[in-house]
Amino acid sequence: MPPSPPFPVRLIDGYRDFLTGRMPIERDRFRELAKRGQSPSIMVIGCCDSRVSPEVIFDTHPGELFVVRNIANLVPPYTSDGTCHGVFAALEFAVQVLKVAHIIVLGHAHCGGIRAYAEHGPPLSPGDSIHKWMSMIAPAAALAGPPDQPGNYLTRLEQASITKSLENLLTFPYVAEAVACGTLALHGAYFEVETGQVFARDGATYVEITAGADALAVASV
Ligand SMILES: [Zn+2]
Repeated sequence: MPPSPPFPVRLIDGYRDFLTGRMPIERDRFRELAKRGQSPSIMVIGCCDSRVSPEVIFDTHPGELFVVRNIANLVPPYTSDGTCHGVFAALEFAVQVLKVAHIIVLGHAHCGGIRAYAEHGPPLSPGDSIHKWMSMIAPAAALAGPPDQPGNYLTRLEQASITKSLENLLTFPYVAEAVACGTLALHGAYFEVETGQVFARDGATYVEITAGADALAVASV
């Protein structure tokens, strides 16, 4: 290995802020998490996109979210052929060891992975991993309908991809069993980058997540 290059200055600055700002506030939480281990009740399956950080969007603390991110927040269907996929390992750990109560598939607007699939552009690299990876959303494209239908095709495709990932989650026997037992709930969510709004999948439509909370709050008064 060559000598280590300088660490990015942005991260060093951020780390200093973390040590003097957030760490003193969260010190007890970190100590408790180190002693007892993590026990998050929510798993988020999100996109690698740097604009869509679940911890930022949901303003969570350390230990609250178990997160796996990949290009376009995809969940491949279950296979029993011994394939070892990063999502499979994370999912298995979240459901069978952590026993999370919720899994959120978090999609978003302006997803580069979805656009790469929709535009069928030239390979981005000799290995063309992105197009190979994104070929997994072909079934979602069937759900989204043809591009020339009314409405924004990329939005339809982004949201159909969330639906397909939720369907694929149910192909994992231990996920289907936990859902059937009522110990695990699956949710689809969609982040609008411009406005910061998060919408929850509700059947064929998406409703801002606070709308449901407000309705529940009103109902419980
Ligand atoms: Zn994305």
